Amino acid sequence: MSTYQGSCRCGGVAIEARGKTHFQGYCHCDDCRRSNGAPIVSFAGFERDQFEWTSQETLAEWRNGQFKRLFCRDCGSPIAYTDDQLPEVVFFYTGFMENQEAFPPEHHSYHHRKIDWLELVDDLPKFEQTSYPRPE
Ligand SMILES: [Zn+2]
Ligand SMILES: [Zn+2]
Repeated sequence: MSTYQGSCRCGGVAIEARGKTHFQGYCHCDDCRRSNGAPIVSFAGFERDQFEWTSQETLAEWRNGQFKRLFCRDCGSPIAYTDDQLPEVVFFYTGFMENQEAFPPEHHSYHHRKIDWLELVDDLPKFEQTSYPRPE
């Protein structure tokens, strides 16, 4: 089974994950953009029983309703996104993972919010809203 490492810029937050991601995708929503200071974000999602925090010394979070953005309080690196409606899963930002080549995005969420000057040429499925099924 494949194992993967992820860590923030300073190493205060790190994980070890294994197995197959449940989610690999881009998000073009404004919330992800602002939380990352980036024109586009992509994720490598793991179930909670697929990873361990190998360091969470500087792990911090910002809650916005049911959603949380995890980040490092020392170096400021974005780490992950969670949704209280989906308690079993964590969506790590691909940039937090060490072997980023292993997590090619498989679809686009909120594609209609894409910044015009951002050119991406691919045949991936493009969703108007979230590409992840959520409970009603
Ligand atoms: Zn850090
Ligand atoms: Zn988003």
